[in-house]
Amino acid sequence: EKQLLNVHNLVTSFRTAEGRLSAVRGVSFSVDQQETLCIVGESGCGKSITTLSVLQLLPSNGEITAGSITFKGEELTTKKEEQMRKLRGNDISMIFQEPMTALNPVFTIGYQLKEPLKLHTKLNKTETRNRAIELLQQVGIPNSEKRLKQYPHELSGGMRQRVMIAIALACNPALLIADEPTTALDVTIQAQILDLIDDLKAELGMGVVMVTHDMGVVAEVADRVMVMYAGNVVETGTVEEIFSNPQHPYTQGLLASVPNVDDASQKLEAIPGSLPNLSEKIEGCRFHPRCPYAMEKCMEQEPPSFKISDHHQSKCWLQEEEVNSHDRKHRAYS
Ligand code: SF4
Ligand code: MG
Repeated sequence: EKQLLNVHNLVTSFRTAEGRLSAVRGVSFSVDQQETLCIVGESGCGKSITTLSVLQLLPSNGEITAGSITFKGEELTTKKEEQMRKLRGNDISMIFQEPMTALNPVFTIGYQLKEPLKLHTKLNKTETRNRAIELLQQVGIPNSEKRLKQYPHELSGGMRQRVMIAIALACNPALLIADEPTTALDVTIQAQILDLIDDLKAELGMGVVMVTHDMGVVAEVADRVMVMYAGNVVETGTVEEIFSNPQHPYTQGLLASVPNVDDASQKLEAIPGSLPNLSEKIEGCRFHPRCPYAMEKCMEQEPPSFKISDHHQSKCWLQEEEVNSHDRKHRAYS
């Protein structure tokens, strides 16, 4: 697999009345071709800010203050808005939550589908129209010729989200960033859309970054999982490792709060306590006020990321205990 996206030690801050506050505090991850990385955590944990940083679509009081983001080996953080605009909708595409998703009510589906093709490709008029029809077929919209002339209000929510995906795919992006793309949709439509993204990933070899707070969605689409808490990555692993051998108490809490991972409607609300707000000063591990295993050390020192296996890491002092007891055993027997 070829690496598409590499984010290294990303710090994203906001200027507020209370001073400069970090929403993303040193986040690192990568995404390969034909791989789906799910970023999970409660709302406010920094997962959306992470993807908006990659796209450089931060609100005006937000900025990347440290770290590097490379896409196909090219640094993005130093690119001008003009260059980023060329990448977005072309090499890197995005889909957001349905009501936030910007299908313009005054333009036809056809117009909105052809727009990125006119902007980013050299197709002529007939080719553009054919490609638009093909895209609608690809996302499973029947009677696609007729659809081109329709307006967004003539389509159901699920159909509109399919159209958004078709627009996102118009220029064969290498990377698709999807932020809660199915949250507002009913369960059946949600399952269809997730299947569709999964099929297209395999067909087109896309890398996918999917932001979600829904472990049911994660179980369904992820190859790898990155769990975020209060601006930090607290655990990363393959989907198998995260579900069968979660190490971080926060991840364990997320999974325990989902009685049945097949029920995609289950949300992550069951961990007692709430995320600290950005301005709250917390020494040590930022999860310690909610952690059932918090030790003295946790309140004083921030844990590093400990390696569990080649693709599995947990940012928790419990891991050090494991490592030490392992070492002790090893010494005892050698
Ligand atoms: Fe809990 Fe301590 Fe691990 Fe933080 S470092 S998750 S407080 S055990
Ligand atoms: Mg969000």
